[in-house]
Amino acid sequence: MSSSAACIFCKIIKGDIPSFKVFESDKVFAFLDIQPLSRGHALVIPKFHGAKLTDIPDEDLLEVLPVAKKIAKASGAEDFNILQNNGRIAHQVVDHVHFHMIPKPNEQEGLGISWPAK
Ligand code: AMP
Repeated sequence: MSSSAACIFCKIIKGDIPSFKVFESDKVFAFLDIQPLSRGHALVIPKFHGAKLTDIPDEDLLEVLPVAKKIAKASGAEDFNILQNNGRIAHQVVDHVHFHMIPKPNEQEGLGISWPAK
């Protein structure tokens, strides 16, 4: 398992930095974004440390998208964005691969969030 002592998301996985965890498995961790673009905005990350998608082994990456799906369902949002940035020009700020799951709530009904994701 690759990990970086300097990486803020590796520290979150280890529990050295607090987070609002919404899911954890052997290979995947998910938590709420500290600066949410909408209520329920979560980040889904492989535990394997790598800056870009191209740095992550397939077997680790394969487990990430089903978790993003679970978390999208748990957010209660019918509509949502999955977003993943690679490199500064592409607006990546944190150099540990992460998928944003950004709920797009129905303005009338809001969200029926039910963390943790099951
Ligand atoms: P990106 O621009 O794709 O690299 O997005 C990085 C995301 O990480 C941003 O949405 C930040 O709000 C989020 N972020 C940074 N530090 C933390 C933290 N300690 N806990 C939760 N989210 C964080």
